[in-house]
Amino acid sequence: MTSTQPIAFLGLGAMGSRMAARLVAAGHDVVAWNRSPGPLQLFRAQGGRVAASPREAAAGARVVFAMLRDDEASRSVWLDADTGAAAAMADDAIAIECSTLSPAWIEELAATLSAPLVDAPVAGSRPQADAGQLIFMAGGPQEAVLSVTPLLRHMGSEVHAVGDNGSGTALKLAVNSLFAAQVVVLAEQLAALSNQQVTLPVALAALKAMPVTSPAAAGAAAAMLAGAYAPLFPVQLMAKDLGYALQAAGQRLPLTESILARFQAASEAGLGDEHIVALHKLYR
Ligand code: NAP
Repeated sequence: MTSTQPIAFLGLGAMGSRMAARLVAAGHDVVAWNRSPGPLQLFRAQGGRVAASPREAAAGARVVFAMLRDDEASRSVWLDADTGAAAAMADDAIAIECSTLSPAWIEELAATLSAPLVDAPVAGSRPQADAGQLIFMAGGPQEAVLSVTPLLRHMGSEVHAVGDNGSGTALKLAVNSLFAAQVVVLAEQLAALSNQQVTLPVALAALKAMPVTSPAAAGAAAAMLAGAYAPLFPVQLMAKDLGYALQAAGQRLPLTESILARFQAASEAGLGDEHIVALHKLYR
């Protein structure tokens, strides 16, 4: 593999489009594929190249990134018999899965690919992707993680090597479970405080000063009070991740089950495409 060979990027959704654009802006030759054509036009205008299939994008690439919705999308993009990227990858290329997936699928994918796989899901949302401030949690062979770290640093401020394949993904699911728990508690407690005649902006200013309130929780509370529900990280994606966390846990997690039930209730109430803070609406 040489540094003159292109990078492939599969999946130009809300996150992937921003991440791929940063690789192009850093001067890399990036060939992207997306299921629907709309994002490809923008990517071309940003200076990227586009391919007609994942296989075409991966052919000759030294590194193949994927940023896709879920296990099902990942399986089809890597392994589809006619168009899957895996069949076109050189054995010394590296596959990087940045999507939030189940650890079981990551382990299956690693065992199926002949090239090394790094699972490198991210903490941070669209603003952090725009700014190159994502935090990567990388699992996979140490040599492969080290060799792709400079590329990840174009998109993220931190790369944490956490172990073998699946470990980055397991940690990401734990991070999202922690955040989801905070969002549910905040939605409930803001409702409870307003029932007790507490002025919410005053309460928020006080809460922000306390160590118990994480920066993410403070941001979520502020978004709830502002009614800022435009999707950054949609309810449906959080429900997907909580489902994967429960499947992977190796034991029952009663609290996470309850949190997932709140996100499912939000989806059933028609809030699935809104930002996770829209959970607040369940308590009005
Ligand atoms: P998104 O905007 O919904 O994009 C999903 C991408 O997956 C699109 O490129 C979509 O293609 C593609 N896709 C979906 N189903 C497919 C299928 N069956 N076959 C092929 N492609 C398929 O989601 P996102 O916000 O970018 O999130 C991407 C991943 O990052 C998810 O795993 C998510 O959980 C994770 N994540 C998201 C955030 C966030 O704040 N949004 C933060 C951290 C991690 P089309 O364009 O054709 O629909």
